[in-house]
Amino acid sequence: MELEKQALTIFWFRRDLRLKDNTGLFHALKNQRDVLPIFIFDRNILDRLPSKKDRRVALIHYALTEIQKQLLAIGSSLQVEIGSPLEVFEKLAKDYDIKSVYTNHDYEPYAIHRDESVRQCLAETGINFHTYKDQCIFEKSEVTKDDGKPYTVFTPYSKKWKAKLRQEDLNAYPTEEYFSSFIKCQERKLPSLADIGFESISEQEFLVTTNTSIISDYKAFRDFPAKDGTTKLSACLRFGLVSIREKARLGLSLSETWLNELIWREFYMMILWHFPHVQTQSFKPIYDQVQWRNNETEFNAWCEGKTGYPIVDAGMRELKATGFMHNRVRMVTASFLVKHLLIDWRWGETYFANHLNDFELSSNNGGWQWAASSGCDA
Ligand code: FAD
Repeated sequence: MELEKQALTIFWFRRDLRLKDNTGLFHALKNQRDVLPIFIFDRNILDRLPSKKDRRVALIHYALTEIQKQLLAIGSSLQVEIGSPLEVFEKLAKDYDIKSVYTNHDYEPYAIHRDESVRQCLAETGINFHTYKDQCIFEKSEVTKDDGKPYTVFTPYSKKWKAKLRQEDLNAYPTEEYFSSFIKCQERKLPSLADIGFESISEQEFLVTTNTSIISDYKAFRDFPAKDGTTKLSACLRFGLVSIREKARLGLSLSETWLNELIWREFYMMILWHFPHVQTQSFKPIYDQVQWRNNETEFNAWCEGKTGYPIVDAGMRELKATGFMHNRVRMVTASFLVKHLLIDWRWGETYFANHLNDFELSSNNGGWQWAASSGCDA
């Protein structure tokens, strides 16, 4: 006789690694009972990472450990899986009677394809897949020109973004009011970094507390790489350790210049959504005809911070040592590679993607195409 499977709803964490003010989690807890939170270490992503000492994987692991502590305190637990998401969901559907799956939108081409396959697989057994906007204030076609077409220039986009903003767009989702909907269960052990084949890294390397005076003084100090004048929140925003609504509220009250940076982030997300060809090609196709010199010795010198140009070398060495580089120095090093060494911007984009703690396809691609003048608003 087959044992009756436990009925539950799944909340799937991805780049929203927090319990507080999490849109999809809020809707799951409010509308369902016995919500099992899960995270999947996606082999399709992990296997492509060039090094087993990766600060991003360590940051994710740290965030999951924090979530686990909070869940254990309320008698629940996170379940962490390792594998390809489709296979993991097939296995979960065998183990449990899944009522529905909740998650948040993810806009990158790989994620769109992944989510569509999971949605179809779940639909075959009658399981609904609910997804919500969480990582940005405005997404997809929410901010467009009056004729409905996407903006390709930042300033008018940012004006429309601000005109459209209402208080309710910034309100936090009070997930904590519904914590009793989390499934009650024994602790499910989290895999260690070694279990997934990665090395551990000191937490000090990526822990960030937002000092609000940095935001208040942002306009005065953000152009000076030697100062601690920017928030270094980018990796936490990338993986959702902090809520964009909370940060946008801070921007609105403390510094419009800083709020504009959050809008640049959404501008590039919107560009990637509407113009996915930018992932491999120039936004303006004519720039794909540039004849690059692509000298490998010069490229390696740039990567190693040995070009002989002090600010370029300082930035590239900082990137390798810490995974971070100041925005102005990213602009300098990118321009140097493309316009001085005449090396294809995609080589630099890939190097940054492998080393930046805050690597975000849309912002990295946007930043590189901006520096190469091949992009929108360049
Ligand atoms: P702050 O100056 O404190 O800004 C606050 C937040 O706004 C940032 O955390 C970030 O989320 C967002 N932001 C700031 N500037 C930009 C910008 N120009 N474009 C988009 N978002 C912005 N940012 C990434 O998050 N991931 C990347 O992979 C990335 N690659 C880049 C590559 C190049 C070539 C360039 C020129 C810029 C890139 N940026 C990227 C944008 C920017 O440099 C970083 O977001 C910023 O330096 C992070 O530091 P901070 O958190 O102290 O930012």
